[in-house]
Amino acid sequence: MTPAMPTDTSGVLIRMLAVSEEARRQQAMTGERQIIPRALMTLLLRTMKLQDPSSLLHGQRIAAIASGVAKLLGWDDEQRRQLEIAALLHDIGKLGVPEHILKKPGKLSSEEYDFVLLHHHAAVNLLQAFHTDPAVVSMLTMLHHDFATAGLQMEATGQPVDLPLGPRILAVADAYDSLSTPKPYRRGMTHQEVISLLEEKSGSRYDGNIVRTLNRWYEAEGDSLFRFAESFTGAEQKQELTDEQRNEAVVLAQFINVLYQFQQLYDGYFVLDSNENYAIWSDGMPGMTGLPIQSVLGRTWQPVDVQLSPLTEEQSPPEHRDETMVGQVLKNGRAQFGSRLCRVSGTRHLKVDVYTMPIMGIGNRVQGVVQLLRNKSGVRRQSREFVELKLAATRDPLTGVANRGQLETQLRHLLEDFHANEGTRCLSTIFLDVDRFKRINDTYGHQVGDQVLVDLTRLLQHETYSAEIIGRYGGEEFVILCPDTDIEAAIRRAERLRHAIQKSSIGGISTLNVTSSFGVSTARLGDTVQTLLERADNCLYRAKETGRNKTCWETEVVAEETVTASLPQEEQAQLTEANGVYDFRERIEVNTSLELTAMKLRAFISEHGGIVLSQEQGTMKIRLGSLGITRRWGSSPERQPVDLSISFETTRTTNSNDGKARTHRIVTVQFTSRGRVPDTETFSVRCIALMRELRAYLLGS
Ligand code: GH3
Ligand code: MG
Ligand code: MG
Repeated sequence: MTPAMPTDTSGVLIRMLAVSEEARRQQAMTGERQIIPRALMTLLLRTMKLQDPSSLLHGQRIAAIASGVAKLLGWDDEQRRQLEIAALLHDIGKLGVPEHILKKPGKLSSEEYDFVLLHHHAAVNLLQAFHTDPAVVSMLTMLHHDFATAGLQMEATGQPVDLPLGPRILAVADAYDSLSTPKPYRRGMTHQEVISLLEEKSGSRYDGNIVRTLNRWYEAEGDSLFRFAESFTGAEQKQELTDEQRNEAVVLAQFINVLYQFQQLYDGYFVLDSNENYAIWSDGMPGMTGLPIQSVLGRTWQPVDVQLSPLTEEQSPPEHRDETMVGQVLKNGRAQFGSRLCRVSGTRHLKVDVYTMPIMGIGNRVQGVVQLLRNKSGVRRQSREFVELKLAATRDPLTGVANRGQLETQLRHLLEDFHANEGTRCLSTIFLDVDRFKRINDTYGHQVGDQVLVDLTRLLQHETYSAEIIGRYGGEEFVILCPDTDIEAAIRRAERLRHAIQKSSIGGISTLNVTSSFGVSTARLGDTVQTLLERADNCLYRAKETGRNKTCWETEVVAEETVTASLPQEEQAQLTEANGVYDFRERIEVNTSLELTAMKLRAFISEHGGIVLSQEQGTMKIRLGSLGITRRWGSSPERQPVDLSISFETTRTTNSNDGKARTHRIVTVQFTSRGRVPDTETFSVRCIALMRELRAYLLGS
């Protein structure tokens, strides 16, 4: 084993221990025992928000739910505070995870889950170093989160231990909020739907008693969840961060990155500070020593904590500090490495590789020690290189989306689901090919050609929903897999993408107008990956033959004219003015019930910090930006708040060809400026952007 650490590890650790020491001093000075140092909490929340503002709202709602449930279960105020903080921080693992994974369209692969989970633990270890209450640390450690596939096993005694109540409450609250919140790609479930789903999984994944308690809490206090839309003050914006705050965020990322590497390369590790106190006891350590986190955190190192004896001789582990690896490293400041037997409990031993490393400060003084252990017996944690290799094997290097192999694997899984459900849940595929791409290469060079492919991918990622999977099939050919999407919806998706490509400035050259042709197919019983893609490809070929920059689909499944009528119109700014008040309006035909549409709207509003002014039969009035806190509106004079008037109507028409009745559900959205609009162009661009987002929300299945 060659210890593969970045060269500046020691520097980063010194800095981390300095912050840790400062947090301890602050705590000693104020005399109050804080659950988490306030400055650290602010820094964490600020950084999380920078990355993904909606995750903070999610955390706040989970905190409210968990705390409400805990109250009914008889928890005292202090315990509930701890639970609330754990809820707010339950997603800190996302700090430091690259965007292409966080914002990846489609489900994470199991390697990617591992990757995110390791970051979660690295971040929780950082909380330890910063003197966060051990109760919060242990809740977060055991929170198996959305990522983990199975419940967490505390192998202290080789036996799985029951998950304590805290993480169980958090797991239920997290699932509840995730399922009930509408996402751009799926509707939110009703309270009743969520409860039945959680009850279904009670006993295996969720604690049935907690699910029932949550139901009781909801009946009494569920309404309180709605206040979060308003209490969310997005006061600190990206552009308003000071240099110092930005630096702090970078330093935080460095800390997490170093701990991530430990977490990744070793099965367990701990860090001692300059007073020989434990700063970190990683989540792997209890399984290797039998010592749970709470029994170690905050106290001084003892030579008998980790009992390491030589492999060969029948020798008991050293008991005197100078004979232990840690003791020697503390004394002479030289790293040590060796294979040892590590005593877990009683006669149970693990064969381990141990690397003990001094943290050197100014003047070559030993400021702390890191001991890293790798389990040689039994299953070892996957090495970092292996995980990255696996990731590399599934991604297209140029664009970062799934490569052809991965795409086919995913489609195979989707087809299995499709057949398992006997075709009751739709599955469609969209094949697209850039028009006259050869000409782009020939005219502007290969590099511009590559840039076009990269830009195109970003656009596709931006325009697609996260249940959809994008892959690069070959050269300038892409495929989008659309689960739960019938052919008509898929055709509309393709058309929307086609318009978006046509309108955007892909490639960054003004004379270059990139367009694409599309073919759409939908799964039938008996389909294989090949047959389904082949039909989409045939349609694509037809689109090329008949003029390019168009979408063709399987006419046997759905006749051309039935769809054409519902295709989206070209987006045109319909800004009108009367007496200094501007109006912008659009009609959107939605394919879900009006009740569901209203629900999606409420999520949209809460995400944009808006408030509902009034709601009557068929009409909803909303104000965005009136609080002066949203990203787009009201934060400066030219960013006027707007009122939205949204009305719903349902009509039925009869198709003259087949006599079938069709229901049209039309949502009319009208933006009205409030106050002076100094720059109508900016105003109109904002309206379009907001409208596009709203449309994606409403049309998401
Ligand atoms: P059509 O409208 O019929 O699709 O015309 P086309 O020129 O796009 O079709 P064709 O399939 O003949 O040409 C595709 C070209 O894409 C050929 C190849 O040189 C180029 N190409 C394939 N992969 C890449 C790549 O990764 N980067 C660049 N720059 N070009 C690529
Ligand atoms: Mg082409
Ligand atoms: Mg081609």
